[in-house]
Amino acid sequence: MHSIRIVTSGEFGCPLCGSHTCSLRLKEGKKFCYMGHRRFLDPNHEYRFDEESFDGVELGTAPVPLSREEVLALTENMKTVFGKDPSGKITTKKRKVGEPPMVRKRKSIWFRLRYWKDLLQPHNLDAMHIEKNVCENIINTLLCMDRKSKDNYSSGRDLEHLGIRKALQPVPVGEQFDLPAAPYAMDNEKKKLFCEILKEARFPDGCASDIRRNVLVKQKKIVGLKSHDNHILLQQLLPLAVRNTLPKEVGVALVRVSRFFKQIYSPVISISDMEKLEGEIAETLSILEAIFLPSFFDLMVHLMVHLPTQVRLGGPIKYSSMYPVERYNMKLKGFKSMILVSHV
Ligand SMILES: [Zn+2]
Repeated sequence: MHSIRIVTSGEFGCPLCGSHTCSLRLKEGKKFCYMGHRRFLDPNHEYRFDEESFDGVELGTAPVPLSREEVLALTENMKTVFGKDPSGKITTKKRKVGEPPMVRKRKSIWFRLRYWKDLLQPHNLDAMHIEKNVCENIINTLLCMDRKSKDNYSSGRDLEHLGIRKALQPVPVGEQFDLPAAPYAMDNEKKKLFCEILKEARFPDGCASDIRRNVLVKQKKIVGLKSHDNHILLQQLLPLAVRNTLPKEVGVALVRVSRFFKQIYSPVISISDMEKLEGEIAETLSILEAIFLPSFFDLMVHLMVHLPTQVRLGGPIKYSSMYPVERYNMKLKGFKSMILVSHV
């Protein structure tokens, strides 16, 4: 098992869904969003037929990841230049009408390993960065952080273009537009309470860094969180903070996300638990789709749906986590700065 970075085009951004990635280009947000998680649900699940909460009926099936042989065949004649492009310019070729989609742009160096095609789990998703990005998405959207929030004017205009969620589309008021409050919108008092709950958190020594200094209650902001701070915030603090500040259905959905990561990070796992979690996370993401706007669903949010399968195949996440690698990187960077200082 190797942590590899497969460069894929945004439209087919998921390395596991490949050409069956359910993506949508947001005209105003100028990016892709990845929804359609009802495809991963049981064929008779009630959410598949809930036209009111979702955008129509979903009868599709979950995509089956390509086999190693298929990936090798796809990338067989691909010429890859590793490192920086010597020409110095990035060339982007537009797909012609009728041409098959170009899912992979580069051939990973790991594909050269003779045993790569025999690996049960050839691609490792980085749970640490997935968790960090999901936590940031949630916090930035709940607190309406400038430029980082996934609920803004562009997101509202995208709903207009897509013709969905009429209640959340911008309403013209004179020459300006008014954005209707989303179900997760908090007023200033609630935002302050949310920040105060996080500010008052105390942890035993060595459990977590002191995130109180990152919480700015007056400005109603949370800034400068590290990956492990997001890990603690999402799993330990978010369920407490959303209890009194958000409507019940939104709170329950976010607690489900928190519980999901707790189960994923469990040091002891059972295969049956992970199989159950595969169904549960598809349900959780479907609930989030009914609450949050399409711009919330970037690739990292979608990758949550593949994590239980990874844990089922590869064992507890601590064996494939990026934390030790990142810590060692920090140590190496420390040596570099020591050398620089000695030269001065
Ligand atoms: Zn996928």
